[in-house]
Amino acid sequence: MEKWQMSLWKSVCDVDELADRFQLSAERLRAVAAAFQFRITPYYLSLIQNKGDAIYRQCVPDERELEGHEDLMDDPLGEERHAPVPCIVHRYPDRCLFLASNQCAMYCRFCTRKRKFRTPMCVDRKHIDEGIEYVRAHSEIRDVLISGGDPFLLEDDRIEYVLRALRAIRHVEILRIGTRTPCVLPERITGKLVAMLKKYHPLYVNVHFNHPDEVTPQSAKALGRLADAGIPLGSQTVLLKGVNDDPAVMRLLMQKLLAARVRPYYIFQTDLVYGTEHFRTPVSKGLEVMDALRGWTSGLAVPQYVIDLPHGGGKIPLLPEYKCKADGSKLTFRNYCGETYEYPDM
Ligand SMILES: *Cc1c(COP(=O)(O)O)cnc(C)c1O
Ligand code: SF4
Repeated sequence: MEKWQMSLWKSVCDVDELADRFQLSAERLRAVAAAFQFRITPYYLSLIQNKGDAIYRQCVPDERELEGHEDLMDDPLGEERHAPVPCIVHRYPDRCLFLASNQCAMYCRFCTRKRKFRTPMCVDRKHIDEGIEYVRAHSEIRDVLISGGDPFLLEDDRIEYVLRALRAIRHVEILRIGTRTPCVLPERITGKLVAMLKKYHPLYVNVHFNHPDEVTPQSAKALGRLADAGIPLGSQTVLLKGVNDDPAVMRLLMQKLLAARVRPYYIFQTDLVYGTEHFRTPVSKGLEVMDALRGWTSGLAVPQYVIDLPHGGGKIPLLPEYKCKADGSKLTFRNYCGETYEYPDM
């Protein structure tokens, strides 16, 4: 067993252990855990400083997950409808998602694919081969985003099986992997893993971080290893109430990611997932965050703020309004600190 597998094995997934640790009611915790499984890696658990802090909220089951809400859905992105075979989501013209794993090191309480923790889809060799066949048969696909679950929960040779097969398809130009392991299980990024990954360039890795306290020396080391293998790193962050719905927190996170060689890519408005109402923020909060980034810090640290539209509408970017007035060809803009400037348009 490799060290990362040992860590996974030592993770907390027992109700009584968690209840004991944080003085919670085991009975109530059991009800939530029965609906949505949990697992917290020893490393991620060690980042919790206080009960209820930003790290805690992301990983410890909460009774509010059992509350429904009229706007919320099991599959808000309509992924099941866009799944021609079980492990592919093909919604855009030239790229698709390849769901290669149904496991995650830590189960984020706000996850968009929470439904899959309830009735975990088994991703076996047959499904993987079906996915590969689908990509091979669709010559319009030039970009495959391998996601899950977390693809890095697979063993190296199973990841390589998928990468090698996809790389051999002529029309597939780029490969991307989405993973949260550098944040929740940094020991997963071994020298052996990156030595294998670098054979499949152009390969991009997108990581997932939601709070500055997650960017630690351990996670920075994992990210550095990937970057040293020539893998361009991007990040996604979910805007979450009580975790990062604060411009100063978000700015610090973006700066820390950039310093760890990650180019922030997306900040997501929380999807309308059943059981995540307590994490929702209004769109105005996301716009406020964006306003506090642009101009105030490196442009490289400014990602796009997007909503993944319900029912499979796709991602759309949102920006604060910078245009104040349009008077014929005279446009008036405000800059990041609120001064107005005129621009003569053609
Ligand atoms: C997000 C997503 C992609 C990738 O989108 P990009 O904007 O290119 O990063 C592809 N397919 C699906 C179904 C997605 O949800
Ligand atoms: S790592 Fe991603 S897929 Fe896994 S639980 Fe967290 S948000 Fe969901």
